[in-house]
Order: sequence, then C-alpha cells, then structure tokens
Amino acid sequence: MPMKTEICIIGAGPAGLTAAIFAAQGGAHVNIIESNTTPGRKLMLTGAGRCNLTHNASPAELVRTFGAAQGRFLSYCFYKFSPQDVLKFFASAGLQTRTEQDGCVFPASDRAGDVRDALLNRAKRLGVNFLYDKRAGKITKQADTFLIHTPKGPVRAEKVIIATGGLSWPKTGCTGDGYRFARSFGHKISQTKASLVPLVSLEDWPGQLAGTPVENVRISARINNKKIATAGALIFTDDGIGGPGVLDMSRHLTDYLPAEKTPIEITLDFAADAEQSAFDKEMTELLNNNPKKKIVNILAEFVPKRIGIFLCKRAGCDDELAAGQLTKDARKRLIADVKALPLSIVRTREIAEATVTRGGVSLKEIEPKTMESKICPGLFFAGEVLDVDGPCGGYNLQICFSTGALAGSAAVQKHTS
Ligand SMILES: Cc1cc2nc3c(=O)[nH]c(=O)nc-3n(C[C@H](O)[C@H](O)[C@H](O)COP(=O)(O)OP(=O)(O)OC[C@H]3O[C@@H](n4cnc5c(N)ncnc54)[C@H](O)[C@@H]3O)c2cc1C
Repeated sequence: MPMKTEICIIGAGPAGLTAAIFAAQGGAHVNIIESNTTPGRKLMLTGAGRCNLTHNASPAELVRTFGAAQGRFLSYCFYKFSPQDVLKFFASAGLQTRTEQDGCVFPASDRAGDVRDALLNRAKRLGVNFLYDKRAGKITKQADTFLIHTPKGPVRAEKVIIATGGLSWPKTGCTGDGYRFARSFGHKISQTKASLVPLVSLEDWPGQLAGTPVENVRISARINNKKIATAGALIFTDDGIGGPGVLDMSRHLTDYLPAEKTPIEITLDFAADAEQSAFDKEMTELLNNNPKKKIVNILAEFVPKRIGIFLCKRAGCDDELAAGQLTKDARKRLIADVKALPLSIVRTREIAEATVTRGGVSLKEIEPKTMESKICPGLFFAGEVLDVDGPCGGYNLQICFSTGALAGSAAVQKHTS
C-alpha cells in the first residue's frame, strides 16, 4: 500500500484550513501548524464579525475585477473553485449563506465564527492534525524532505504549504513570516503596502468632523490621466477618511502613496445618485423655493448637519442664514462642494491597520495551475501571502478558498510513491 503524503501547512487561516481540507480529502496525512492557540483569528474579525465570505460573481467577472496581471494568475483557480463552488462547499459543511443585493455573501447567521467552525470541523473530521501555539521559525529542505522548525521541535513533511497571510493586523498572528520563508528558498517578494485602508489628508479639517458617517459618497480621483471612482459609506477620521468607499479607493491610490509633496487630489460627491446637471437643478430649486429656510436645513437633504455647518463655514456664510440671504459666491461654492468637495491625500494609514496587504510572494515564480513554487518543488503557497489583493466585497476570502483548494489538492496529486 502506498504511504500517505505527509503535508505540512503553516497557518490555520482561511487559506490554510481550505488547503488542509483538500489535501486530506485527497488522502494525505496533514499537519497544520498555527502560532496562535486557536485557528482563524483574522477570519473571526471579517465583515465586522459577519464575514463577507465571497462575492457571487462568475469566474470571468472575478478575473476582470483583479485586473490584467493578478487576473491572469488567478484565472485557473477561480474556474477550478469558483464562488459558486464555495457556496456548495459551505452548504455541504452545513453552513447556510445569504447573498445580498450587491452580490456580497454572508453566513445566514451573520456570524464569522460559523464560517470558521465549518472549515475547522470538516478538517477535523478528515483527520487533519492541528499543532497550535507553535510558530514556525525556519523551513529547511534536505533531499526530498522539508523540516519545519518550531520552538517545540521540528515537523517533517514531503510537501509544505505556506498560508501565513500578510502583514496587516499583526495581533491576529500575521507578522510576515511567510515572506521570510519564501525568500529563504530564493523567491522574490513584491513590495508590501497597505490596501483597503483609511486615507490620511493634508488638510486637517476632516478632524473637525471625526466620527461623522455619510451613507453613500462617490469618491473620485485622477491617476495617470485615468479617472477612478468608488462609492460607498464614508466616515471622517482624526486625520482623514475611512469607510468602505474609501477602502476601495485606497486600493487604487496605495501604489502612488506616500505623496507628501504632491498629494493626490480626490473629490467627495455627497449627491452621488444625481448627475451634475440634475443636482444643479435640484439645488437651485431648493434654494429658490425656500428663501426663508435655513441653509443648513436645505443641505441636510444631502449631508449630516455637522457637515452642512462645515460646508457653510467653508463657503463663508453663517449656517443660520436663510437661503434667500446667501450671496451669489457662497451659493456657488456650496453647490460645488456638495457635489465635489476636494481633499488632498498624502498617505494611507499604517499597514497594521489595513484590511489586506498589497504585494507579497511574486506571482512570476508560482505555477498558477498548482500554486507550487517554480523554484523549490514541493513548496506551495496559498492566500494573502501571495502578491494578490482584491477590493472589498468578499473577494479576498475567495482568493484564500480558491488558492487554498488548488494548493491542497495539487500537493497530494504530485505524490508519486
Ligand atoms: C478587519 C478585517 C476584516 C476583513 N473582512 C473581510 C471580509 O469580510 N471579506 C473578505 O473577503 N476579506 C476580509 N478581510 C481580509 C481577509 O480576512 C484576509 O484576506 C484573509 O484572512 C487572509 O487569509 P489567509 O489564510 O491568507 O491568512 P490569515 O487569515 O492572515 O491567516 C494566516 C495564519 O497564519 C498564522 N501564522 C503566520 N505566521 C506563522 C508562523 N510562522 N507559524 C505558524 N503560524 C503562522 C497566523 O497566526 C494566522 O492564523 C478582512 C480583514 C480584516 C483585517
């Protein structure tokens, strides 16, 4: 009888757990090493505790979302284990899900813990051996055997899957160890940067509005003569802006930041649903038809009162003023600012605060059909440790499930004894 492949996975996050399940399903003996005392610490925080586990899109749409280089690399694994496959996989693990109107998928219970437990229980049932509270310090390879060194002794394996995540939220266990392991086998690491992260502005006025949320804001920027726009909820912070719409914009800007000397100009549109001409008409009518109404109450149609007061100050008028008393200039400025309030972005917040890490193990040295290293046979990668990152909306966990499933099954298939 052939011996079972010994596979060691480093990191029990969503990518590592998925890889473990697929490797064990394929008949391997799987050890999974995790530095924390519990699996999926970051997974538990996802979607503000609700876990937006995937995005209900076709593989082709996913590929388009990730753009040329990443899309090309991820295409095979998205077709192999698509969002629809992820839904079936979780359904067979007893997890009910709900797809929201925008395509974001959540567990029906709205509990990230249920997603974690579905993965954990399936892995346990398949006999995966969990080695908690063990931080892998070094990986070496002699002949065909890997040794994963931990403070509690080495673990032997024929195949290793590195699923150690990126650099964001280090308290969850992500300290960039995977990059070190990859480098030790000759892999290049593309520069790491914060992505899906709050933005810091040159102006200090956002601090005056800190904590004020706005439901739907369109954020626009121009990068290399190309117009970029994102939309969603926004919240002002002590040093800039945050919220889902801003996180998505950060993904487009992060490669060009920091830019302390030449900040990136963005605009905030608080009347995102109206075209410019329709908005101008609506605002003009509101002002003309309500000459006795306080200007701040008219602005309340578009922005929370605190922002309305701020916009009045910017326009040089008293917020208690009646619409009919507005000067021509103040009126013009207010109309312009509601639709396109300018802000200069100088940097992102720290990578530790980012939802995901941009950059990581260079894709050029990874085989996209197996996730195996092109440099070191038997070494595989899965999840955020790779140089892949997506927008908000469940795309990043889909990367973990697709790359994890592929790495896990490929690691077993390559066993020949
Ligand atoms: C607050 C927050 C909310 C998010 N919400 C969403 C969301 O709703 N939807 C979405 O798609 N994405 C979301 N993300 C992103 C998503 O959580 C990550 O992309 C995903 O967790 C990456 O999974 P991973 O398995 O690659 O790595 P991780 O989840 O980071 O897991 C890596 C594991 O490896 C372990 N490890 C690291 N080094 C070692 C070592 N040397 N030895 C042993 N173990 C080690 C770590 O302890 C960790 O448990 C969110 C991220 C954050 C921070």
